[in-house]
Amino acid sequence: MLLRLRPIPSFSPPPTSFHRRRYSITVAQLTTASSPTTPPPQPPPLVKTALFIPPGVALEDVSMDMVLSGSNIVLGPYAGDAKVKSVEFVKSSAKAKDCPRDPLRRPEFAILGRSNVGKSSLINSLVRKKDVALTSKKPGKTQLINHFLINKSWYLVDLPGYGYAHASQSAKTDWSAFTKGYFLNRDTLVSALLLVDSNVPPQQVDLDCANWLGRNNIGFTFVFTKCDKVKIGKGKRSDDNLKKFQDLISKQYKEPPPWIMTSSITGLGRDNLLLHMSQLRNYWDQEAV
Ligand code: GDP
Repeated sequence: MLLRLRPIPSFSPPPTSFHRRRYSITVAQLTTASSPTTPPPQPPPLVKTALFIPPGVALEDVSMDMVLSGSNIVLGPYAGDAKVKSVEFVKSSAKAKDCPRDPLRRPEFAILGRSNVGKSSLINSLVRKKDVALTSKKPGKTQLINHFLINKSWYLVDLPGYGYAHASQSAKTDWSAFTKGYFLNRDTLVSALLLVDSNVPPQQVDLDCANWLGRNNIGFTFVFTKCDKVKIGKGKRSDDNLKKFQDLISKQYKEPPPWIMTSSITGLGRDNLLLHMSQLRNYWDQEAV
């Protein structure tokens, strides 16, 4: 019941007609995404992919200047103040059932992804603090759910990384039960941010995670990380990886979920990701009353 109200993507068919519609833009658009210091790219020609149409936007009113650069996300009327003014660490929980129960039912976003994907760095970049989420030198070691309260009004939730090759089987299994327990019982969850490393070809474990979220009607946004890196002569460029990933996703979803490119080093995508989260949050707030 709680999930139905969320302004989120789901497996097909979408819950309401305004969530997402098919549009076409080229992957070339992804590669020209601006960093805060470079001018925004020119609108690309419409070709073939999909935009995330948020609540409150009619398909016929969408123009390319409403699309957040480096993403497929349309900015709608629910977008609001996206500044992070304060951040407080609230709690580390070793079990899903120990997560904070907020009497104010303030909404939350869960951040997850493979170990080493850049999750801690992204959290630090979003809140503009160096050590809020400790960037780990030892992938796979954190097995806690960490709640951070932002602007005293919403939470960022740092979930344990998954799929670390050297984690013991029992640690991997624990992750699975632990994190699934969180997702299946968290009725103040607005959306998950599923981080995917743009520097590696699509990984089955990421697709499996996306599919699990989709099957359980948990909305999520693909957040591509490390979009500052270009490995010349060492495998594929990150935009090739993104295209492959999106091709795979488009085969599994009739209407692809929102995605956005980020870099914690250059700040690419940071402000736009916060804007996207603000529109999901504000819509959720309105629906929750
Ligand atoms: P986590 O295990 O998912 O929390 O990943 P971390 O945030 O600890 O980052 C793992 C490694 O990736 C570290 O060496 C980071 O410096 C590096 N990293 C994280 N984000 C970025 C990014 O945006 N660009 C680049 N080039 N490296 C990054």
